[in-house]
Amino acid sequence: MLQSKLFSKTTKNLPEGEETKNAQLLIKGGFINKSSAGVYSLLPLGLRVLDKINHIIREEMNAIGGEELLMPTLVQRRYWEQSKRWDTDVVYKTGASKKQGELEYGLGWTHEEVIAAIAVNFLQSYKDLPKAVYQIQTKFRAEARAQGGLLRGREFLMKDLYSFHTDTEDLNRYYNQVIGAYKKIFKRLGLRALATEAGGGAFTKEYTHEFQVLNPAGEDSIYYCQKCDFSQNQEIYDVNRHKGCDGKVVSGRAIEVGNVFKLGTRFSEAFNLSYADSSGKKHLIVMGSYGIGPTRVMGTIVEEYNDSAGIIWPEAVAPCRIHLMSLGDSPKTKKESDRLYKLLSGRFGSDEVLYDERAAAPGEKLKDADLLGMPWRLVISEKTVAVKKIEIKNRASSQSKLLSEKQVIAVLDGK
Ligand SMILES: [Zn+2]
Repeated sequence: MLQSKLFSKTTKNLPEGEETKNAQLLIKGGFINKSSAGVYSLLPLGLRVLDKINHIIREEMNAIGGEELLMPTLVQRRYWEQSKRWDTDVVYKTGASKKQGELEYGLGWTHEEVIAAIAVNFLQSYKDLPKAVYQIQTKFRAEARAQGGLLRGREFLMKDLYSFHTDTEDLNRYYNQVIGAYKKIFKRLGLRALATEAGGGAFTKEYTHEFQVLNPAGEDSIYYCQKCDFSQNQEIYDVNRHKGCDGKVVSGRAIEVGNVFKLGTRFSEAFNLSYADSSGKKHLIVMGSYGIGPTRVMGTIVEEYNDSAGIIWPEAVAPCRIHLMSLGDSPKTKKESDRLYKLLSGRFGSDEVLYDERAAAPGEKLKDADLLGMPWRLVISEKTVAVKKIEIKNRASSQSKLLSEKQVIAVLDGK
């Protein structure tokens, strides 16, 4: 990708009220654009990050038998009324009906109702179970306060997985499998997410699990052990749950990046979703639901990986792995940079190489590179051309190295 051709540019201008690091750095870098409070556009470079996050999530969801589908975001009122959730204050309501002049739709903020109504058509026998489906979709939530950048949006992306089972035992088995998949996802994304016990609210007396990343920008407070895996949301904290370990339990702010939930038969009952066992007897289907917010994950990654100069993208989600820079206006430098761009594009894919061929001052270019935060910065200048080397620097390191082309390729190959 040629940097001169990019739709977005880096900017020093920040919209008012953006106090979080993720919003500031993503806007300055031209990854996102703010439309209104809690509503952002993903610009081309930002969308590349989001696509990579989604790709990792998809791979791990497919690996535990999840099938992807896509449900409508416009959800008719009768669905919410059937589950008694129409009056939830987070629903954006829209579409006046001609008859009563009442609002007839809600913008989807979660899809237990819609999926339960769909499942009635396909899941009828014990032979049809278990099943799991998921979608990655835009969701809407009428948040009173939306100030956390991508951490708390009124419109945001959500991966929601729903599972269907004959009984609680099978739900428990799958629930643990999803927890395992979530651990893999967050690890691949470079996030240390603690599986934190939380209350089930109105749905269940059992604990549910939230995946929490310790970070001062978070809105949640959790208690966690410094030695073992124990972690609980402050709202339900019970010191007696921490047993058989002498580690110290401390509290900290955290960002919730995912959650897993045993729904039981709450929605099966509302939508008459049942199956026949081997003797023909009917039972309600037992359900689970499991969320991850990819846009919030993107904001969390920025909160976790940054310094005073900009973002430090982990390789797995960086918009491009390589940022190639041609510094100075010597024709020799330009020729050598063009050649290297071609070579790297052929080897790693042109989408993975951002080539800064702009006629800008070296200082400005290097500053932009730090702000954009691609993992590997390669510099070609008169100085490097003279010694037939390339300057290579990892964004997370303060040291640059002069290496031969062969050595640079080996580094980029991960050797
Ligand atoms: Zn412990």
